Amino acid sequence: MNSIGCTTQLASVLMEADAASLAKITFLRNMNHEIRTPLNAIMGIIEILMMKIREPEQLKLLNKSNAAAHNLLELLGNVLDMEQIEEGKMELDECNFDMAALLREIVSLIENRANAKGLSVQLDCDAALPERLLGDATRIKQILINLVGNAVKFTERGGVTLSVQLKSRDAEGVQVLFAVSDTGIGIAHDHIERIFRAFEQDDNSATRVYGGAGLGLAISKSLVDLMGGEIEVSSIPGQGSTFAFTLRLKMAAKEHTRRMMLHRGQVAEQKSLADSCFASR
Ligand code: ADP
Repeated sequence: MNSIGCTTQLASVLMEADAASLAKITFLRNMNHEIRTPLNAIMGIIEILMMKIREPEQLKLLNKSNAAAHNLLELLGNVLDMEQIEEGKMELDECNFDMAALLREIVSLIENRANAKGLSVQLDCDAALPERLLGDATRIKQILINLVGNAVKFTERGGVTLSVQLKSRDAEGVQVLFAVSDTGIGIAHDHIERIFRAFEQDDNSATRVYGGAGLGLAISKSLVDLMGGEIEVSSIPGQGSTFAFTLRLKMAAKEHTRRMMLHRGQVAEQKSLADSCFASR
């Protein structure tokens, strides 16, 4: 076969592969929708029953059903995300968002679960962080919820700290370091290497008790990679773990303008960024 023949054949193989991958993602998306619809109805009914039922034994069973339904919902989302990542079809959005509000939301989402286990949740937000940034806030939230959720899941005593620090700043934007620390079970040294691979879970019996599918960290790592950042983990078995990642984020136009005005002395008082961050605690 000549080189033109080869190129045409290659192009048609690539087109077929692309069509197959699109068909797979479309199928998963449809299945996701079809499973979500009855699942949401089931969850709605469980919620109504939880408000009506007072008998402790029955409430316990309802709580278990509720947790299982939430896990299933999370699993559906994770399978779809993983597929999109593996097929190179995951796309990022860029929006103008308020970092402090995002962190506050994450803490409020996780606080009940942590408090039910007697754990403290601390938010440590760098006062020097710009108020408004540009980035995929939904995906940043997804990564943080996964890391903070794991921290609560694998901790029985002590607490969880979410810390966000400004690492550097230049004309285009900032580099931000996010870290989630816990005082939980920690991760065995021989497992730490594999922790970001899909379906990998620490082999010990303790981890199995906590459940999960082993997709959250693989998705988090892929999202951080897609955003051009880096994620790493340090852990001492029996003492706790810290997951940290860096991201470069652009400063939102409003932030640029505000800083320029401050620079020119047109704004008398700088609104305290620290206040906006620490008000979230
Ligand atoms: P899942 O939590 O659903 O199993 P993840 O990908 O989020 O999936 O985590 C993979 C595995 O990494 C967990 O099963 C657990 O073994 C380990 N792990 C993750 N976060 C922590 C943590 N904060 N402390 C201890 N182990 C952790």
